[in-house]
Amino acid sequence: MNDPATLVGRSALLLDLDGTLYPASSHRAYLETVKRITGMRGEEVYDASVPDSAYADLQADRSKYGFGSDTETLRERWGIGIAEMNRFRERWTRPSDFLAPEPRVATAVERMLASRTLILGTNNTPVLARRILKVLEIPEGWFAAIFSSEDLGAAKPDRAFFERICERAGLPARAFVSVGDRAASDLDPAAAVGMETWLVVGAEDLEALADACEATC
Ligand SMILES: [Mg+2]
Repeated sequence: MNDPATLVGRSALLLDLDGTLYPASSHRAYLETVKRITGMRGEEVYDASVPDSAYADLQADRSKYGFGSDTETLRERWGIGIAEMNRFRERWTRPSDFLAPEPRVATAVERMLASRTLILGTNNTPVLARRILKVLEIPEGWFAAIFSSEDLGAAKPDRAFFERICERAGLPARAFVSVGDRAASDLDPAAAVGMETWLVVGAEDLEALADACEATC
């Protein structure tokens, strides 16, 4: 895992946002709040009195029916589509209350930019993705493209998410290394379409990736 040799011949990095460009290990409170907001939308359909309980019901449903994501579960079980859910998330989510610039992350990403094409691929909403980048002080302009599941009509871990990014970017899967914090969402389906993968648990994994980019350019 995270072998620098996998960067050889790979010209593009497909970067996940949440839990990756602000590593999950240091932002549990924010990620818990994001779950609670999803739970708020589920209170009515699950007849739950509090968001945490609705979110637990949603997880039980997801597991019972074998859905790959919260997004898929809300759509398939309750007809709540990606766009509707995203407008709800945008209304309630305030990344600036929780997140702050991460100089180690921004520096590592800037080092990657020197030798690779950077593409952001997220299940977050297009508006929130840009709001988060601003809080993190990572310029949008560092990315050749920002793709959200809403734009693509497919959410991770659906393989179509990765296939459509290749189509939109005009690059084959073999050009990419997919970088993310969740193997089941960011890495396994990417590998299934032919991308290499890099797991991010903390900022040190992004620094190691930047080192690997420099060693293989
Ligand atoms: Mg993530």
